[in-house]
Amino acid sequence: MNERIYLDHAATTPVRLEVLQTLNEILSSTFGNASSIHTFGQEAKRVLEESRETVAGCIGAASGEVIFTSGGTESDNLAIRGTAYALKDRGNHIITTAIEHPAVLNCCGALEEEGFEVTYLPVDLECRVHPEWVLEAMRPETILVSVMFANNETGSIQPIAEIGRIARRKGVVFHTDAVQVAGKVHLDVDELGVDLLSMSAHKIYGPKGVGGLYVRKGTKLHPIVYGGHHEKNLRPGTENVPAIAAFARALELAGSELPSARENLERLKERLASGLEGAIEQVQRNGSATEYLPNILNMSFSGVDGEALLLNLDLMGVAVSTGSACSSGAAEPSHVLMAMGIDPWLAQASLRFSFGRDNTAEQIDRVVEILPDIVNRLRDLGDARARR
Ligand code: PLP
Repeated sequence: MNERIYLDHAATTPVRLEVLQTLNEILSSTFGNASSIHTFGQEAKRVLEESRETVAGCIGAASGEVIFTSGGTESDNLAIRGTAYALKDRGNHIITTAIEHPAVLNCCGALEEEGFEVTYLPVDLECRVHPEWVLEAMRPETILVSVMFANNETGSIQPIAEIGRIARRKGVVFHTDAVQVAGKVHLDVDELGVDLLSMSAHKIYGPKGVGGLYVRKGTKLHPIVYGGHHEKNLRPGTENVPAIAAFARALELAGSELPSARENLERLKERLASGLEGAIEQVQRNGSATEYLPNILNMSFSGVDGEALLLNLDLMGVAVSTGSACSSGAAEPSHVLMAMGIDPWLAQASLRFSFGRDNTAEQIDRVVEILPDIVNRLRDLGDARARR
C-alpha cells in the first residue's frame, strides 16, 4: 500500500505537535472552572485570558473583543442571528452572498422564516463579489452585511476592506467569515473595517469544536443561547479552557509562519495545477487567478463525475473533496460553482484539492501520476455507456 496522501486541509487539519502539547498540558494541569473564585478557578481564568489576548493580538483586536465559541458555525450564527435580534427594531434587511458556507446560508434562511429579508449577492466568474453590488443592495432598513473572506471551495478572496468601507459609510454592521483565512492571509480587523469576524481552530492545526468571534467594541449583539454570564454574557457555558489555549497556540503559530507557509503552499498548488493541465485534456481551474488562498485548488474535469473521481482517488490513498453537498442521497452540484455561472454538469465534474504544511512535492507528483489514468478510464466508461 502506498503512503496515504491528505489533500483536504480545507475540510480539516491534523492537530500539530506544539498545539497537542499545549492541549495536553492545560488539560492535565488546569482543570478549574474559570468562573470559580478559588485558586484552581483563577488559574484557569488566567489561561483563558492569556489565550484571549493571544487571539486578539493575531487579528489586531483588543482582548476584550474576542468571544470564544465552539467553532466557525457557532461564530457565524452568533454574528448573524445576534445582530439580527439586537437590531430588529432598526431594520430587517441583511445582505450576504450566494457562495457562503451553509453556516451562514442556513442561518440567513432561518431568519427569513422569522420575517427578515435577505439579499444574496451573486459572484462573477472568478467567484468574487463586487463591492458596488453591496452598495446597490443597501436599503434604509439594512442592518447587516455578511460576506465571507475567502471561499472554502474555490479559495477566491473577497474585497473585504472595500466592502468594510461601504458598510461603515452606511452605518451597517459588517461580518466576515474568516474561517478559511486565518494563518494564510494577514488579518487586521481595523484595516479590514469589520465589526464581526468568525474563526475556527480545526482549519489551522488546532482541535475541532473551538473557535472565536471577534466583536468590535460597541457592536450590539444578542446572545443566541441562554445560561450563565460567561464570555461577556454572549456565549454561556463553562469555557473549554484547554481547547481555547490550543486554538490560541494554533493561531499564533500559523501567523508566525505565514510568509514561508504561503510560499510553500502556493508552490504545491501550482505544481499540481500545471501538472494536471499538462497531463489531462479539458480541465479548467475554478476561482480567481489573482485574489486567492494559496492552499485551495478547484478544478473541473469535463465529462467525469467528481464523486467517482473522489472515490477512485480514495482507493489509491489520496483524499480530496468535491465541495458539493450531499442532500437526500444525491450529490447536488456545488452551489458555489453554480453561482459562478459554471454549467451544472461541469460543476458536478469538479474536485477541490487543499494543501497543508506536511504535503510534499513528491505527493503532488504522485497525484499527477495517477489522476490522468482515472480520468481517462472514467471518460472511456462514460463514452461506452453513451454508445449503448
Ligand atoms: N465557514 C467556512 C468558510 C468553513 O469552511 C467552515 C468549515 O468548513 C465553517 C464556516 C464551519 O466551521 P466549523 O467546522 O468550525 O463549525
